[in-house]
Amino acid sequence: MEKLSKELQQKITKVNMGLVAVLVLLWGFIFFNPANRIDASEAQTLMSQLYIDDNQEMINTNLTKDEFNAIQQKLDRHRPSHAKLNEAEEKFELHELMTSIYHPESLNEEPHFNQTVSAETVDQATNYLEQVDKEDVFYKEATTLVQNAQEDLTKMDLFHNEIDLSKAPIVKERADIPEAVSFVSQYDDTFVGIEEHAPTFPVIAEYQAYLDDLCEVIVDEFTTQYFSDEFLDEMYQVDSLASRFELTPMDPGKLVALTFDDGPNEEYTTQVLEILEEHDIVGTFFVMGAYVDDSPHIAREIVERGHIIGNHTYNHPDLAVETPEEVLKQYRWTTESIYDETGVMPDLFRLPFGSGGPREIELAGDMTSIMWNTDSADWELQDAEAIFENVKNNLHRHSVILMHDTAQYTVDALKLIIPYLKEEGYRFVEPTQVDFYRRF
Ligand SMILES: [Zn+2]
Repeated sequence: MEKLSKELQQKITKVNMGLVAVLVLLWGFIFFNPANRIDASEAQTLMSQLYIDDNQEMINTNLTKDEFNAIQQKLDRHRPSHAKLNEAEEKFELHELMTSIYHPESLNEEPHFNQTVSAETVDQATNYLEQVDKEDVFYKEATTLVQNAQEDLTKMDLFHNEIDLSKAPIVKERADIPEAVSFVSQYDDTFVGIEEHAPTFPVIAEYQAYLDDLCEVIVDEFTTQYFSDEFLDEMYQVDSLASRFELTPMDPGKLVALTFDDGPNEEYTTQVLEILEEHDIVGTFFVMGAYVDDSPHIAREIVERGHIIGNHTYNHPDLAVETPEEVLKQYRWTTESIYDETGVMPDLFRLPFGSGGPREIELAGDMTSIMWNTDSADWELQDAEAIFENVKNNLHRHSVILMHDTAQYTVDALKLIIPYLKEEGYRFVEPTQVDFYRRF
């Protein structure tokens, strides 16, 4: 009996060992099974659909709820209770909450409010974030957005209570502008910021329309007659106006166009071209036809180096006292000389001595008259330092500077003027890019 049972025991042990071996084999088979390995990489692929970054912090908010659920189910089969998967679930929940505050498409760019936004939805999101209490890029971004939403809502309430659009001055002409500017300046602090974030709210949209109309009148008036620098400053301090002036003649940036008259000149034009090239600046040369005929290669160099060539009459008469026939001849001969030598038809012109009016402008046809608002007075001062000081003292936010490429003192002054303008933050532009009022 005992012997038998011993044999039996041995048998059982063998069977057990066999079973263990089978299990080991089976485990190995499962573990190294190529089919399961594909599952692992599939899982990785699925995770990479949930997250857009390598750190797996930012979820892919382009996924729909169904798409997310499908991925979630597949992943659950593979590795249940995956921490990153649970986190993604939380993040999608939060994202959904965020889209009741902000417009979904705007969340990736310039977030602006959804019409459904309310103090309650913002509070909900705040509470959610407090509960989660995690710090990665996604939560940090969400926290900032929710904080901004809270501030913006407060501002919007304030704006709502403050503004009375029925009291907004009606702006039809120049004389109405100052009152309107002081009206809008009262709301600027509250309005700036919420303007971009809540453009679809009726009171904001209405106020925006008022600002747009006001700016249209201002720019329009400005192009016919200049405003004082003090008044310009006052307007530029109102952010909601300043942002609307961008890329108009009222752009708050500093612009300057360098113009050179009475060339081309063998000795000095060449030096001016060298300096401009050194600084990578475009200049405008109002040339006289007679000098183009004398020095055609200089005229060509002006054009070849990428500068603008303009018509400054044939031999510089005071057009205001000439007959129409003579004025036309002065323009035509010069345009012909320029065209013959450079292949360029000038479309800008400058009146000699700045003398002339509507008749001379009319006779110039398609050419645009370019005046100046900063006179270097180089021909009068005849000293580089004095010319430089004079330019410095007469600069405007948008300046067209008049110089003459006919003397060494101007060339030397230019070497002082350009670095100064750069230091002061001026952008070098073409004369037509500067305020229209400086042209006739
Ligand atoms: Zn001149």
